[in-house]
Amino acid sequence: MLIESMTTEEFSKLVQRIKTVIIPIGSIEAHGPHLPLATDLYTIYEICKRLIQEIPLFLAPPIYYGLCRSTRNLPGTISIRGETLKALLTDIIHSLYQKGLRNFIILSGHAGGTHNAFLIDAAESTLETLVEGRFLVADIYTLLKKDLLALGFEEDDSHAGEWETSLMLYLRSELVQNLDQAFEDYPRFPKYQIVREKDKFWASGIWGNPKKATSEKGKLLVDHLLLNLKRHIEEFLNY
Ligand SMILES: [Zn+2]
Repeated sequence: MLIESMTTEEFSKLVQRIKTVIIPIGSIEAHGPHLPLATDLYTIYEICKRLIQEIPLFLAPPIYYGLCRSTRNLPGTISIRGETLKALLTDIIHSLYQKGLRNFIILSGHAGGTHNAFLIDAAESTLETLVEGRFLVADIYTLLKKDLLALGFEEDDSHAGEWETSLMLYLRSELVQNLDQAFEDYPRFPKYQIVREKDKFWASGIWGNPKKATSEKGKLLVDHLLLNLKRHIEEFLNY
C-alpha cells in the first residue's frame, strides 16, 4: 500500500485497520562507474514494494538523502547532516503518528554506521514523546550479512561490489551501465583518522568486486532479504 499514490479517502479507510508503516531511506552517493547515485534508495524501495505484496503495511514515500561520510567528496554524492536526517525522520514519524499509525519500520538501503546511528537516535528519542509508538530500525547490509557469508560472498564485499551490483542487476537492470568499466577496489582509509581528502583513499566508490555480480545472485539475495524481513516484522508486531 503505497501512501504516495493513495487518495485521502483510501488512507483514512486503511488506517482504521493497519497501524504499521515502513519508511524507506536511501542515500545519494557515488557507486562506481556502473551504478546510479540513488542505488541505496532503489534497492530498499524495490524490496519494500515486494514486501507489501505479501504483508499488508503502509509504505511511506521514501527519504532519498542520507549521511555519506566515505564518499562525501566524490562526484555526485549529496550528503546531508545527521541532525537534518534525524529531524526529517522525526517529523515524518510525528505526522504519521498523528494520522493513526503506531508501528514504524525504518529500513535503510545505505549502511553507513554514522547514518544508521542517527536513524536509531530518531527512534530512541521519539520513544519518549510518542508513548504508543514502536520502532524497528534496520539496514540492508546488516539484514543480509549472515546470508552473504553462507552464500559464498566475500567477507569484504560491500559498497557497489558483488552483492549490491547483483541486487541492482535483478531489481533495476535498466539503471546498471558500463559494467565492463567496473573493477575490484577497496577503501584504504588510515585507521582511526578522520581524513579531509577522502577521495585520496577511496576514489572509486567501489568496495568489493562488481565483476562477479549477476542477476541470479540478486534474485537469491532478494528472496533472503524478504524472508528475513518477514521474520523480523512478525516478531516485531507480535512482541
Ligand atoms: Zn550502496
